[in-house]
Order: sequence, then structure tokens, then C-alpha cells
Amino acid sequence: MKGTAYPSQHIPASADHFPVIRGVKWPNIIAIFLTHVIAGYGLLYVSPKTATVVLTTVLYYITTLGVTAGYHRLWSHRSYKASAPLRLFLALAGGCAVQGSAYWWAKGHRAHHRYIDTDKDPYSSKRGLLFTHVGWLIFYTDVRAGSADVTDLKNDKILMWQHRWHVPIFVVLGYLLPVVVPGYFWDDWMGGLCYSAALRIALCYHSIWCINSLAHTLGHAPFDDKHTPRDHLFTALVTLGEGYHNFHHQFPMDYRNAIRWYQYDPTKWFIAACGAVGLASHLRRFPSNEVRKGAFTMRMKKLKATQESLEWPRPVEELPIVTWENFQEESKKRTLLLVSGFIHDVTNFVEEHPGGAKLLTANAGKDATTSFFGGVYDHSNAAHNLLSMMRVGILAGGVECKGELDHHATPPSQTYWIAPGPPRRAMVAPPSEVRFRSVRDWVTTKSQ
Ligand SMILES: [Zn+2]
Ligand SMILES: [Zn+2]
Repeated sequence: MKGTAYPSQHIPASADHFPVIRGVKWPNIIAIFLTHVIAGYGLLYVSPKTATVVLTTVLYYITTLGVTAGYHRLWSHRSYKASAPLRLFLALAGGCAVQGSAYWWAKGHRAHHRYIDTDKDPYSSKRGLLFTHVGWLIFYTDVRAGSADVTDLKNDKILMWQHRWHVPIFVVLGYLLPVVVPGYFWDDWMGGLCYSAALRIALCYHSIWCINSLAHTLGHAPFDDKHTPRDHLFTALVTLGEGYHNFHHQFPMDYRNAIRWYQYDPTKWFIAACGAVGLASHLRRFPSNEVRKGAFTMRMKKLKATQESLEWPRPVEELPIVTWENFQEESKKRTLLLVSGFIHDVTNFVEEHPGGAKLLTANAGKDATTSFFGGVYDHSNAAHNLLSMMRVGILAGGVECKGELDHHATPPSQTYWIAPGPPRRAMVAPPSEVRFRSVRDWVTTKSQ
């Protein structure tokens, strides 16, 4: 299977520092700097007209959706199919974000997914928040993105047209039109420049950059914690729903990032709306059984950690086997009770027993199983758990544990005990004479 192994198995994890700067990408740094200066000037000294504020808000959503629904979920991940009019709209809208062409962006993003957290991840989160947010865009470094298959993208004529013309697109649609429209129609040239153009683009910058920075830093990992992507409401709010990044990296071809109805994912809502009116089709969803399995595994991992942080009764195999005679002999020195075949030393608990000390001392050296489980008082699960912590031995020959008694031998706290995963078996090829049997038969044979 030469050359087909999953790449991250062979590529070292990314170095844990901001890479050495080899040069500055001046056009990028100047564009980003000027955009922020003009936006900042506007916030401090310019009062935009209401129509300009509305236009800025609408343009912000359109532009960001161009990247999230277009650059990301459509072209990077093929999570749905878009009609030509929708692809044209997304190509133009995304172009207004001044974040490069969709082809370039999707190529880098596919490498990010394929080589996540390694040296071939173009914005590995191991390089720090500053590098993943903007550093990789403004500095030349030795970081080289790994290769990713983009042949499907090259066959998309609208995408390749946008790749060729993305500079005129962002100059005309991203900068000029948002200034000219408010200036010409309601005489708010400065509002147009500072808000509809500069502030809107600056906000789009940070929204999209947060997908690489914040979404790999802030939050929790409800589906898998092998890599750095995280889910967080704040990131979702600032990225139009891309903040459920842990889900996204697990199930990247799913058109959703948020799977709960109450989670904020306007990009998903937009794609679903496009599907409803026939502009989009083949909206992909990962099998919910596998999604739930991922969530289940992570919950089990947390429960296992909790389980390991608690104290439990001594394992049965560590307890000494005690004869009836020994049990009787020892009971003269301390208060020993036999319950469900286990001998318990309750000497230090006698005075604390809620039912009184006498009941315990009177049963010392006797089988108190029936009394404990309802004969005298049907003890609570907590009492049973506590009793099991006082186990000191097992009676030789014990008691016959069937039905209720068998159930009583296990403390309630250990009913749902989380055991280590099944042992890994060496994958040995079946003998030649059974090579053509079905996999089911082979598995059955191996497990016998
Ligand atoms: Zn990511
Ligand atoms: Zn992605």
C-alpha cells in the first residue's frame, strides 16, 4: 500500500512556536493596515447615515457568507451542490472580502484539513494565535503547505474565472461600489468609505481569520480531541456559524457546522434556504449514528476520567479467600459481617451506623445478606456502595450468587463500570485455504 497511508501519520506535529520571519508581504500588510486605519478613523470621527449603517450590515453578511458558504463549505469541502447563479453570487460576494481567490483559499484550506496541526498545515494552531490569525498572511516564513487535490476546482469555470479576476472584483465591488453607492444616492461619501468599505472589510477579515485562530483555541471538543479544533458559541457568533469547528473537522463534508436547532449557524441556514428554493442541492449530512458515536466516545472519556478519580472497593482478585472458621475466629477481635459472600470489616463504622451499633455487633460473624437487603432494612444504594468499601475478604465457598444475590454482589456504583477498550488483535492474514471466505466467517473464526 505504498504511498496511500494517511499523511498525518508520517508528518511530525507542527513546531510549537511562531515561525522564523523570512520577509514581509508588503501588499498584504499595507492593505490590512490601511483598512484598519480608515475603519478606526471612521469609528472615531465619522457619523454615518442610517442607510449607510444598513448597507454596511447587509454587505457584511453577504461578503462573509461568500467565504463561509462559498469558499469554505462549497468549494473547500463540496458539502453541497450549487447552481451556476448561486456560484456566481458566492464568487462575487466572497471576492468582496479581499481574502484572495476562492481557488487559492480552498486549496490552502484543504491542506489545513489534510495536514492538521503538522508542519504541512499552512496555519497550524501550534504556531500560536497570532500566526494563525494573521501572521501567515503578512510574513514570509519557511512554512510550506502540503499538497491537496484540487482537480475538481479546476473544472469549475466560475471559480477559475473568479481566480483570474479576483483583484478587479474586490477593487470594484469590494472597495469602490460601497463608497460610490452611499455617496451618490444619499450623499454619505465618508460613511461609505469608512463603514461600508473599510469597517465592513476589517470585520470580514477578523471573522474569517478567527476560523483558523480562535476556532482552534477556544472551547471544547465534544466529538474528538485528537486535534486542536474546538466548538465555542463566541467563535460561532463572529464567524457566521463556523465556530463549531470540532464538529467541522470531524465531519468536514457536512454542510452544517452546528447540528442543534438552537446553535448559531447562519451559513447553514443560508445553504438550507438556497436548497429550499432550488439554488442548491445534495446538501450532505454525515450519518447521525456516527456523529452520535463521536459524542458518545468523548462523554465516555470524561466519565472514565471521573471514574479514575474516585476510590473503589478492592478488586475481588486482590481479596484473600477466608474459611468459615477463620471468619469466626477473626470476628471475635473485630466486627466482621458477611454480605453477599464478601466479608466486611465494619469495626470503625459501628458507632456511625444510622440503624444503631447494636444491629451490627449482633450480626458480627454471621451472614447478614438477607438482613441488609430488606430482612431488617432495605438499604439504599449509597449504603451498599459504602459497605463495599469495607470489604476485607471473600468467604471460601462463598454463597451461591444467583438472581438477586448475584445482583447484590455488585455495588450499584459499579453497575455501569467503564472498562478499557477491547484488546487490539494483530491483523494476520487468514490462511490461504480460507482466504475467500466472507469477512463475517473469518471474524467468527478468529474470535472462537
Ligand atoms: Zn480548522
Ligand atoms: Zn473546513
